[in-house]
Amino acid sequence: MSDCIFCKIIAGEIPCHKIYEDDFCLAFLDISNDLYGHTLVVPKKHNESVMTCDSTTLGRVIETCKKVGNHYVKNCGFDGFHIFNNNGEAANQSVKHVHFHILPRKKDDGQKVFPELECCGADLAEVCKELKLAEEKAQPHFEVPADTVVLYTDGACSGNPGAGGWAAILTFEGREKILSGGEDITTNNRMELMAVIQGLEAIKAGQKVKVFSDSAYVVNAFNQGWIANWKRNNWRSSSGGEVLNKEMWQRLLAAMQPLEVEFVKVKGHSDNVFNNRCDALAREEIAKIGG
Ligand code: 5GP
Ligand code: ZN
Repeated sequence: MSDCIFCKIIAGEIPCHKIYEDDFCLAFLDISNDLYGHTLVVPKKHNESVMTCDSTTLGRVIETCKKVGNHYVKNCGFDGFHIFNNNGEAANQSVKHVHFHILPRKKDDGQKVFPELECCGADLAEVCKELKLAEEKAQPHFEVPADTVVLYTDGACSGNPGAGGWAAILTFEGREKILSGGEDITTNNRMELMAVIQGLEAIKAGQKVKVFSDSAYVVNAFNQGWIANWKRNNWRSSSGGEVLNKEMWQRLLAAMQPLEVEFVKVKGHSDNVFNNRCDALAREEIAKIGG
């Protein structure tokens, strides 16, 4: 954003006192110079506020807050820190680029930093009824046995053909692995296939895997017997031509060979958090290409 102060700081057009920087985030001292060590952590990608920021970027910003805050406590003589964040004018957000304030504290620093709010006098049960948020539906993978790797995948394309992205999120034994990539000119179906291929190729032989994809093209090929037909007909489709994306289907079959794989079709662009995260990652890859 050309008129954003923090984008200018990130681009080096406005100087700052830099505390930490990596590929995704920048941490620098707040110009107010109020509390000793008052630091701002910002994502390098412009986002107006937490209200609109994607979860990957937000995750990186929070990780950076943790890194800087822990550094202040471990190496700089502080005993703790606040993380503050304002969203929207009503909540005093003055710079419209997501930022978290880190306010380092010492035990007896005598500062009053946490806002001293007046009692609102409301009944908490009533407040809860007013403000309660519906629980998100359980993700289908909660029903997956513990010995099975959960693989969520998605592909996206800007134009068909056009710039494309793919993403895979693998979950196993409470750990998560995220893979993503992009290609200049490709198709939506190829990106859907690539997401599954890359996900499966990252899993060690002998594993059981449950693949959750919103691509009917990918899921039906296995669950409706298309693959078996293609193999029988020497990779010719019913119209006689070579099966589209044959080399990718064959790479996918090779990736599946040492594994025990089951495919599940999920609804895309719905309330499935993992599918939505894959979609967002795939779209980020398209944006990186400039598509
Ligand atoms: P907000 O009120 O939006 O939560 O916080 C914005 C913060 O950005 C303020 O604390 C303000 O002091 C800080 N700030 C505004 N302009 C600059 C600048 O040019 N450089 C630095 N380092 N901080 C700034
Ligand atoms: Zn900005």
